[in-house]
Amino acid sequence: MYKIMTPGPTQVKENVRMARARECTNPDLDGEFLEFYKETCGQLSRLLHTSNETLILGGEGILGLEAACASLTEPGDRVLVLDNGIFGKGFADFVSIYGGKPELYTVDGKNPIDPDVLDGYLKEHHGFKYATLVHCDTPSGILNDIHTLCPLLKKYGILTVVDSVSAMFGEKVHVDEAQADILCGGSQKAVSAPPGLAFATISGDAKRAMAERKTPIASFYANLKVFEGYYEKKWFPYTMPISDIYGLQAALSNIEQDSGMLLRHARLGQACRQAVKDAGLKLHLEQGFSNTVTVLDVPGETTAEAILETMQKEYNIMLSGSFGSLAGHVVRIGHMGANANFQDMAETMDALGQTLEKLGVPLACSLKERFCQLYRTV
Ligand SMILES: *Cc1c(COP(=O)(O)O)cnc(C)c1O
Repeated sequence: MYKIMTPGPTQVKENVRMARARECTNPDLDGEFLEFYKETCGQLSRLLHTSNETLILGGEGILGLEAACASLTEPGDRVLVLDNGIFGKGFADFVSIYGGKPELYTVDGKNPIDPDVLDGYLKEHHGFKYATLVHCDTPSGILNDIHTLCPLLKKYGILTVVDSVSAMFGEKVHVDEAQADILCGGSQKAVSAPPGLAFATISGDAKRAMAERKTPIASFYANLKVFEGYYEKKWFPYTMPISDIYGLQAALSNIEQDSGMLLRHARLGQACRQAVKDAGLKLHLEQGFSNTVTVLDVPGETTAEAILETMQKEYNIMLSGSFGSLAGHVVRIGHMGANANFQDMAETMDALGQTLEKLGVPLACSLKERFCQLYRTV
């Protein structure tokens, strides 16, 4: 088994694995499971600081993004797609599939979206039903300030769909403060449960927009409205993956009990980035670093493939490359959720330093020593 230090899926703690092995009831018929489902949704709402309802969907993280777009988009709707990364741009496909007209607001992929510049754009461009944005665009690790961007969009009467899959619980998420209408998460990032579940918080405005549709939602599985009244009706739209939800609940309880989680992510992220720079390596981004993932440019002396392979073969640690236009150009260290602990990070930095030296990349200092020093002081 590799030590996985990838930006999702992440390590899964033993109590989460054990919870998934619990004895199963019939989740369609057993009232106890109905209560358990509702309580787990409530736990998510609490952890995400919202009075909005949260739904857990039986499908991987992508299902939440698609369901949000399917549920809000009517044919011909104009949708503003904020794009400074691969997931950001990807929302345009979901909008198009459901008949909407995506309008890309594309900015340079090495910096976060600037709310002042967006404000200027919104003064000139009108008529958007909703906007999509990504909290942490994981392939580059860029972090967008959803707590400023969403209220700005709301001021212009634009609903927001936020992908916080790889940011939540490693970065601050306060849904009510952000006034985010649909905010999506997944089980396999900082939550640190295995892949398989998506979840979404849904505001009153988003529910109204769904209720006021003139056309039906063009999907059953990617449809948030099919859950309407499930608790009162004691009826799920499809059989819920009960073991996955048992695991998720245990993972959420780990988060609930871990009061230092955000601070630890901040310290690890900062120490990792600074150590990378001090060693003479280059961070991929200019600004807007998420504390859940560090993305570095591959040094000229070697290749991403060689780094990842050496890390696996010689040190048993799995890092990640990237995809799309970033494939081959960067290496990513995922320090989110259960990965975000000093021990594993120190080991990873040690192995990465040795790997790079083996591959002929000169380093200005020991990555591990610098990381450990910095972690104590940041
Ligand atoms: C991981 C992730 C998802 C879920 O997508 P998969 O690639 O299928 O894991 C969605 N959005 C973001 C930003 C993610 O990092």
